[in-house]
Amino acid sequence: MSRYFDNAASMEISQHAWHAATTDYAIGNPSSTHHAGKQARQVLNESRLSIARYIGIDNPQDIYFTSGATEAANLLIQGYLNTLRLQPNAQRNEIIISSIEHPAVYQAAYAMTAHGFIVHELAVNQQGHVDTALLARYVSSRTALVCVMAVNNETGSIQPINALAKTVKEKEPDVFFVCDSVQQFAKLNIKINLDYVDALFMSGHKIGADKGVGCFYCNPRFKLQPLFFGGKQELSYRPGTENVFGIKLLAAALEESIAQLQARLDYISSLGETLTSLLDKANIHYYRLTSKEDSSPYILSLAFPGFPSTEMVNELALAGFAVSQGSACSSHKTTPSRVLQAMQLPKHIIQSTIRISFSMQNTKHDVEALAEYLIELTGS
Ligand code: PLP
Repeated sequence: MSRYFDNAASMEISQHAWHAATTDYAIGNPSSTHHAGKQARQVLNESRLSIARYIGIDNPQDIYFTSGATEAANLLIQGYLNTLRLQPNAQRNEIIISSIEHPAVYQAAYAMTAHGFIVHELAVNQQGHVDTALLARYVSSRTALVCVMAVNNETGSIQPINALAKTVKEKEPDVFFVCDSVQQFAKLNIKINLDYVDALFMSGHKIGADKGVGCFYCNPRFKLQPLFFGGKQELSYRPGTENVFGIKLLAAALEESIAQLQARLDYISSLGETLTSLLDKANIHYYRLTSKEDSSPYILSLAFPGFPSTEMVNELALAGFAVSQGSACSSHKTTPSRVLQAMQLPKHIIQSTIRISFSMQNTKHDVEALAEYLIELTGS
């Protein structure tokens, strides 16, 4: 596992979180009224409270648990737009997203075109940043929803999310502003300003909890139509028995991540620096897609012109190194990354980009081994 550098796709479960979740294991169904049910409900309540504290809201009931970020994105985007559709005189039928959103957002937004919504994609610059002035030009009395990610999962580029949301709200306070927080949540020193951002979502396995659990916050001013129907769980927004064990893992992983946030940032940054300085020393010709200052140190997107990324990823895998071509959900595709194309990068860069993403499980020694192998592969 030490040569696993695909942590933006999924991270190892934290030992601390595992211990906390097994210690607090609750047999009961949180909707049951007996003792075992109450125990499970208490785990849910405490977990909701931890998340509420982290994002800085007073009412933990505004946090909803889901099976992950994809479900949360669909519920927020489609659920809110379906609410608008039910209003007799709804004027707002435009959606604005950045052109580098994750498929969970991108596809959810485009799915609504079947119901008369129009999607505007915001162009990004070559560093993968959305411009606030450009966003302002798109926002109008017809805008229903804006969704922009805090950190891009392929390149690590950090968006000026609070400035973007402020721009929208100053112009049109009734627009629903949603933020995909998956790669930023409990990882970066960024406080999402909920005076402007109305909803955000995350996924547990990106912070050391398990796959298949996540959550979102939604300002109660904005109402959602559920996508599924059933029981009254999660205020009926997301019916179905909650994944209590996974939710406890999520809350414990979150608490651990917050407690160690700065130390982790320092360590993770040092891993990236070790890698790039070894490549530099060996005079390797590579291109870093996003600047160190404006991107997450957890994600390093490097292009090695002349070395196709598909081959690099396979060669590295044969040598025991797990890296990716971009996002895990598009890793089986042979078409070039939509995100890198949206950044208008030259073809030779797009075709030779690999994503290296770190976690606390990676040691300096592992990074040196990775650098050595990259040098062997790409050096002349
Ligand atoms: N958004 C971003 C930025 C992501 O990186 C991911 C996962 O890679 C998702 C959404 C979807 O998360 P999940 O697959 O856990 O639902």
